[in-house]
Amino acid sequence: MTAQQLIDDASAVAVLTGAGISTDSGIPDFRGPQGVWTRNPAAEKKSHIDTYVNDVDHRKANWQRLAKKQIWAEVDPNVGHRALLALESRDKLHTLVTQNVDGLHQAAGSNEDLVVEVHGTTRRVKCLDCGDGAPMQKALDRVLAGEEDPPCKTCGGILKSATISFGQSLEVESLDRAQVAAQQCDVLLCVGTSLGVFPVANMVPIARNSHAQVIIVNAEPTGFDELATVIVRGSISDVLPVIVRANPD
Ligand code: NAD
Ligand code: ZN
Repeated sequence: MTAQQLIDDASAVAVLTGAGISTDSGIPDFRGPQGVWTRNPAAEKKSHIDTYVNDVDHRKANWQRLAKKQIWAEVDPNVGHRALLALESRDKLHTLVTQNVDGLHQAAGSNEDLVVEVHGTTRRVKCLDCGDGAPMQKALDRVLAGEEDPPCKTCGGILKSATISFGQSLEVESLDRAQVAAQQCDVLLCVGTSLGVFPVANMVPIARNSHAQVIIVNAEPTGFDELATVIVRGSISDVLPVIVRANPD
């Protein structure tokens, strides 16, 4: 069976995406050949929550970097994000679980109710003390107006982008939804993820144990290739539209 046939036959497809689906939007992944951590292993250590909490200079530098970059000004969804819309129009999408924090699935038009951002989002900030949230842009406006390390307006605590750093726990609700999707789907379609980050990568064995087929679309080998029904190696922008029949003629 081809990946295309498996999806044709499925009525509930769960999708798990990783950084690889956004590289064609110009956002580097972490562990691919040009990945942020492949090129600079020290950056991985710095992304631990303890560094953020204990090192005010690290926080200030981080805010400056975010404010200067105008994070999403020039970042748009690509063919891969848009291809996944076909699963919704074919009424097959169960849940779109993403490890990405860039908000590009929603920007491409995916139904927000079906998208689960298991590692959070850079489009919002969250207080590490009271949990209050706000749009990222509001915090960046404060940085641009001169606040070097803007505190939470509610409690004075430390604000951070609403992403899950190393050392932080995942939101229970997101994790539950990912697990249920893996259990209930007929096909789990993994796109652009090295399947090395847990517990999210466990969606693959959970899906297999629940008798779902697993399709892996990735340029390089992943941590769970041996559990895949079908592996499609190639550029996501090239192969994903074909697999999901995004361009029917
Ligand atoms: P990863 O970096 O571990 O793996 C990405 C995989 O995608 C690699 O195996 C790479 O070979 C493949 N790939 C990259 N571009 C591709 C393309 N165009 N076509 C086909 N394959 C391609 O990513 P991960 O598994 O998502 O884990 C990284 C963690 O880092 C995640 O938890 C995520 O939260 C975070 N992250 C997010 C972003 C983002 O939001 N865009 C970017 C970098 C890292
Ligand atoms: Zn607070």
